[in-house]
Amino acid sequence: MRILLTNDDGVYAPGLAALYQSLSARHQVTVVAPESEQSAVGHAITLADPIRVRPLRPRSGLTGWAVRGTPADCVKLGLNELMPRPPELVVSGINLGANVGVNVLYSGTVSAATEAAILGLPGLAVSLDTHQPQADFSFAARFIAHLVERLPLPGQPPLVPLNVNVPALPPDQIRGVRFCRQSRARLVEEFIPRQDPRGNTYYWLGGETLGSEGGPETDFVALAQGYITITPIRHDLTHEAALSAMKSFTLELPE
Ligand code: MN
Repeated sequence: MRILLTNDDGVYAPGLAALYQSLSARHQVTVVAPESEQSAVGHAITLADPIRVRPLRPRSGLTGWAVRGTPADCVKLGLNELMPRPPELVVSGINLGANVGVNVLYSGTVSAATEAAILGLPGLAVSLDTHQPQADFSFAARFIAHLVERLPLPGQPPLVPLNVNVPALPPDQIRGVRFCRQSRARLVEEFIPRQDPRGNTYYWLGGETLGSEGGPETDFVALAQGYITITPIRHDLTHEAALSAMKSFTLELPE
């Protein structure tokens, strides 16, 4: 299978290298990834700046391109311009840090997978639940290679992307796979004020993701319990129940 591999941590992130290694054993993998970190850019695309690309050097161990753009730029550019034949699957990750709950909206990793769906391709986003830069991505990479062989999963419509989160645990402590809904867990902000050398105050966003509600059927809780979580996602933000409740109302135009 032809796979476009991208991420939001940047083309030289270890999580991407781990996926490249595990997927290229059986697939033709082309990297089209941001040249620098693009975490939390969400679904942004570049409109007002040039999108520069450069081929990856062979000594990087990767085949493909580094792109001065966002993850969504990478998917669009890879599909439309860079890859001689279009990919059959877009894989994004492995992100350093879980993408669960509301944080999915900010995630460049997940947005690359939803961009794939917009362009008519299956997409898969993968994140490891740790912020330790020295984390071991090998089991998560192995799991994704195993999952890719099984796509689409039974019941999965072909263009519904999957958001996968893997606990950062030794493989024998991972309890299994749970199909989960997105929780309402969110980043609880803590802005840390500091001073620059000229005495001006600036802020650095800290804090942690907390989920105050939701049971084991949610991504946040199942991941914390040691399960790999898989959530089928969509980019249509319409609230169906609200829409049907509001439809019978006629809002008059102003006089
Ligand atoms: Mn990231």
